[in-house]
Amino acid sequence: NPETAKLLERRDRVLGPSYRLFYREPVAIEGGKGVWLKGLDGRDYLDAYNNVPVIGHSHPAVTEAVTKQLSTLNTHTRYLTETVVEYSERLLATFPDELDRVTYTCTGSEAIDLAIRTARYATGNRGLIISEHAYHGTTVAAAGVSPSLGPNNPLGEDVVTIPSIDTARTSADQVAAKLEADVRAAIAKLEASGAGVAAILLDSILSSDGVQVEPAGFLAPLVDLVHDAGGLYIADEVQPGFGRTGNWWGFERHGLVPDLAVLGKPMGNGIPIAALVGTAAAQQKFGEEIRYFNTFGGNPVSIAAAGAVLDVIEQEGLRQNAAKVGGMLLEGLERIGTTDDRVLHVRGARLFLAMEFADAQGQPDAALAARVVNGMRDEGVLISASGPAAAALKIRPPLVFDKTNAEQLLDTLERVLRGQ
Ligand code: PMP
Repeated sequence: NPETAKLLERRDRVLGPSYRLFYREPVAIEGGKGVWLKGLDGRDYLDAYNNVPVIGHSHPAVTEAVTKQLSTLNTHTRYLTETVVEYSERLLATFPDELDRVTYTCTGSEAIDLAIRTARYATGNRGLIISEHAYHGTTVAAAGVSPSLGPNNPLGEDVVTIPSIDTARTSADQVAAKLEADVRAAIAKLEASGAGVAAILLDSILSSDGVQVEPAGFLAPLVDLVHDAGGLYIADEVQPGFGRTGNWWGFERHGLVPDLAVLGKPMGNGIPIAALVGTAAAQQKFGEEIRYFNTFGGNPVSIAAAGAVLDVIEQEGLRQNAAKVGGMLLEGLERIGTTDDRVLHVRGARLFLAMEFADAQGQPDAALAARVVNGMRDEGVLISASGPAAAALKIRPPLVFDKTNAEQLLDTLERVLRGQ
């Protein structure tokens, strides 16, 4: 498309060199509504990847709430406003009772940063245990716990990784046994170095490790080991949170209550807001010793957007919809998988799903995943690929994805796969 090409050329002349776009032929968009994105090429694209517009693109409830708040008051967060207190009460009501304090930031990365600092104060230790292919953000500390970015670790030896789990090739029992041994080794390493264990920090669904969802509950024994070593459990809920798994929070699938939980992306449906939620005990020491002031974190306009998101998730029954449509998608993906030898594994937790490909030798087939992602894009359905070898399709649509959308996604996938 000539319009897209022109825009791409202008963009490459002005934007920083570390930006990346999706797809072999990037999609230029000029609007969004519900699950649809409007392309500059005049086409409509089904958004089956984006977990920011969790209640759908341009939801009128967010527009209304933000407009109303903006015309009344917006300011930084050292004033007392009822808007913030009321939202915090509502947000915390979605968590287990133990998690009873929230601190707002603007981005997930800042909340990760704050979680790390908080855990270090609470425990007196420095060490962090993370997954080998994790992504947790962009600040110095968040990049330090994001090995998927490449060989860049500003936190040095205070960070120990455990190998990504491979639920496509190993049984649930093997996964559990291996994880336990890996976490024991990580704890031993941090204790030997003198760093001690401040926290284990994991996505509640290991996202950049290839959307590893099963066996549900596999995190619980690891968290026990970390607690015994004096560390905290930080749940990164930036991807699974806000109803995607049918529960409010991904950690619920593991039967766990974290000490700290990091929220982001979907929280404001596109208006920047993120948060650290945790037990008062975990946050006490940091709060006593450090003043934390985030100018725009939890400003009234962002809070208004976040409030509208909670309203809509409840009013439109979106957790129930995630369960229903997620179930349909999983079934459909499994059906495709049984008829195509190249599909090694299908997995999903409601509206967070993956289909992993392997070649004839059983090796991860990232080339096929890339061809499918680009082929789907050409057919007007947007998904992505994930995992250490990027051989797994990542399907993570807005929670308003309905039955017809699911059918379109499955039909398109089947057709595109057949053509590869
Ligand atoms: N944690 C996870 C799991 C994420 O996916 C991201 C963003 N992709 C972050 C943290 C960081 O959030 P942000 O980009 O808002 O800083």
